Amino acid sequence: MDSTNVRLLNFINGSFQEGSAGNWFEDIRPTDGKPHAIVSEASREDVDRAVRAARAALRGPWGRTSVAERVKVLNAIAAEIERRFDEFLAAEVADTGKPHSLARAVDIPRGAANFRAFAGILANRGAPAFPTDTPDGTGALNYAVRRPKGVIAVISPWNLPLLLMTWKVAPALACGNTVVAKPSEETPYTCTLLAEVMDAIGLPPGVFNVVHGFGPHSAGAFLCEHEGVDAITFTGETKTGEAIMHAAAAGTRDLSAELGGKNPAIVFADADIDAAIAGTARSAFINCGQVCLCTERVYVERPAFERFAEGLVQAAHNLVPGPPDHDATTIGPLISAEHREKVIAAYGVAASGGAHVLAGGGIPDMPEALTGGFWIEPTVWTGLPEDSVPVREEIFGPVCHIAPFDDEDEVLHLANASSYGLAATLWTENLSRAHRLSPHIEAGIVWVNTWNLRDLRTPFGGVKRSGIGREGGTWSLDFYSETKNVCIKL
Ligand code: NAD
Repeated sequence: MDSTNVRLLNFINGSFQEGSAGNWFEDIRPTDGKPHAIVSEASREDVDRAVRAARAALRGPWGRTSVAERVKVLNAIAAEIERRFDEFLAAEVADTGKPHSLARAVDIPRGAANFRAFAGILANRGAPAFPTDTPDGTGALNYAVRRPKGVIAVISPWNLPLLLMTWKVAPALACGNTVVAKPSEETPYTCTLLAEVMDAIGLPPGVFNVVHGFGPHSAGAFLCEHEGVDAITFTGETKTGEAIMHAAAAGTRDLSAELGGKNPAIVFADADIDAAIAGTARSAFINCGQVCLCTERVYVERPAFERFAEGLVQAAHNLVPGPPDHDATTIGPLISAEHREKVIAAYGVAASGGAHVLAGGGIPDMPEALTGGFWIEPTVWTGLPEDSVPVREEIFGPVCHIAPFDDEDEVLHLANASSYGLAATLWTENLSRAHRLSPHIEAGIVWVNTWNLRDLRTPFGGVKRSGIGREGGTWSLDFYSETKNVCIKL
């Protein structure tokens, strides 16, 4: 693939189009820093046409589709993604640099699974009805009807591009909405393929649109500011979420925000320590630490600290960076030069702040062909003060800080002393302790003796600066629809 033959276009009202301003940007391969595609940036006018097309499609036959019809559409989209699995895999790996093994096991299957899951959730959803007494004794019947919310803006990040885009597009379409999607400028490829899928299965023009571009002063901001958008669903950084909240306030639009995290893991000495080491290594280093749910703070009960630290350091050393298609590769690069600068800066702040660097801390030597890529060493620190910036702020790289603790109250305080609250992990064989602590951990998700075990029917989202609202299962259907009450006098 080189930049001359892959051109990624916007998808507006059922056709692939170049942006009207004629601006293009490069899609960079993180493994070697070279462009592998060029992308057509949507102008404000293009975004406007996409939103208008979405509005028109909502008022057309799509707005009157039955649940059964939409279930069929969602299953057809899933089947088409599966049929084109290898193309999605190649595109996702080119954009992110993640190992094939990871994209093959997680990203692409979940892209299809999101559509199948929400088809099933929609098909099985009922709505309440209430008989009501009236003074004349005849009674009334109240029942709730779900209607699409309207035109949904979907704004997604680069870390799990297809997975996170479809996580929102699937329930939005399931509820009968129309969508204007803005993938991350770093990873625009699989969303463009998704538009091809929608086209191929015969989704009516305007139901699904894609606009490419950046955030501020570009397609992301143009979309959020557009008064024709009824609701915005966003995944990304907390600061961006705050900017989008401002945009959503104009016109009183609803917002779902899945934001950053600084997720703790708590390891008790009674845990299966080998399992805790393996689980924590996975939770800190998978996808080069670029998952919102990744563990960046680890608290280990003092008697187990030394053994745990040794095991985690060994696990960091065992990771093998390399070309995504090599079977031996177990860790990819960071997404961009800019993001690596941010992560390396955090490594520097930690080192100068007195961190004891147990593993990593720098940039690995890579073979000639990969030296232009954004590689970084998986890193483990200890010894930093709890109020230091590297222990407080999200880094979004393959790094965690480990610290000892002595009792439950202390560790609960440490875990909760964060402005974020996305996910937490508890490792203990003591069932009572797990139940006792879980409700008091300030996080939207608590995993016990596992990490990132996901069931798409469960609620997903964060507290504090990690987000607003819940998606997943029927919570997604609640966000992507309006519930109207109809009252009939009998
Ligand atoms: P980001 O906030 O920089 O960008 C996300 C998207 O928002 C991109 O498409 C970008 O173009 C767009 N954007 C940026 N500024 C905008 C603006 N002013 N108006 C409209 N759109 C704008 O995030 P990122 O760097 O792509 O992703 C990493 C972040 O995402 C991390 O903080 C991570 O924790 C978070 N994340 C959260 C979850 C979750 O479910 N809570 C999941 C994955 C990632």
